[in-house]
Amino acid sequence: FAINMDQLQLDEELGKGNYGTVKKVLHKPTKVAMAMKEIRLELDEAKLNAIIMELDILHRAVAPEIVEFYGAFFIESCVYYCMEYMDAGSLDKLQGDGIPEHVLARITRSMVRGLKFLKDDLQIIHRDVKPTNVLVNRRGEVKLCDFGVSGQLEKSLAKTNIGCQSYMAPERIRGESQNNVGTYTVSSDVWSLGLSMIEMALGRYPYPPETYANVFAQLTAIVDGDTPELPDDFSDISKDFVSRCLHKMPERRASYAELLQHPFLAQDKEKDIDMPGWVASALAYREQKLREQQQQHLASQLGMS
Ligand code: ATP
Ligand code: MG
Repeated sequence: FAINMDQLQLDEELGKGNYGTVKKVLHKPTKVAMAMKEIRLELDEAKLNAIIMELDILHRAVAPEIVEFYGAFFIESCVYYCMEYMDAGSLDKLQGDGIPEHVLARITRSMVRGLKFLKDDLQIIHRDVKPTNVLVNRRGEVKLCDFGVSGQLEKSLAKTNIGCQSYMAPERIRGESQNNVGTYTVSSDVWSLGLSMIEMALGRYPYPPETYANVFAQLTAIVDGDTPELPDDFSDISKDFVSRCLHKMPERRASYAELLQHPFLAQDKEKDIDMPGWVASALAYREQKLREQQQQHLASQLGMS
């Protein structure tokens, strides 16, 4: 069946990205809560139809590690994309001051399994692996979203924000600067996976913008500088795993099958990890931080008057 706007009751905003806004919605006929992403594109109807058709393959992307796709439609020049609502949000907002190793291992295993499924079963390269595209729910499930299925959609997105927080592999950064688009392989996603793991472990992006004079210097550091590592208190096994992802040369990075067999993930498989418990505590920590920020803001306003 096809979803349309009349069936949806719009609720609160869940977040904003570079290309649009994500809202919580209720699909009234089925009473299913969904997340609806609005992407504004200045395109003619034929191109919008092509995008909707290309998105259709998402109906086959059904796996425990992939956010479920419910359907897409367009109104005027906006594409609306409806997917499973993940009630704990994205990992960038849950990472706090850093995710502990045992939880990071479980998250990483879900990510690798999801990426392997996309590649093996659907011949899809994700192309946008980063903590904001890894979603979590209170049941403790970890799922990927926002992978590149539509060539037309990708071409139509206005690239406003290159850099700042780039998860692009060195070969992609070099390729883009030479206007060479053929450099993307599945191992570019493996780099982004490794970088995302370090961000989650640190609780911040590993190439902090404030340490570079500009975006060019920051991108140069990714291409030519030392590769980042996990914090000191992480095990040697976990550090070895990340180093298998962050080789500058794409051919030297591990495959998904190799990553799943690596002791870091093989050991995780045998463990009993309380993911719902971790999600609950991460959400509570975030709430507390937001409250503190609000109070500080209020106090500074009172101080000024
Ligand atoms: P970018 O624009 O670079 O892709 P982004 O991933 O943060 O960045 P969006 O994909 O537009 O941007 O998502 C905005 C925010 O909405 C995300 O950071 C996430 O917190 C939230 N979000 C997205 N999809 C869902 C979902 N299915 N369930 C719950 N929250 C979601
Ligand atoms: Mg996203």
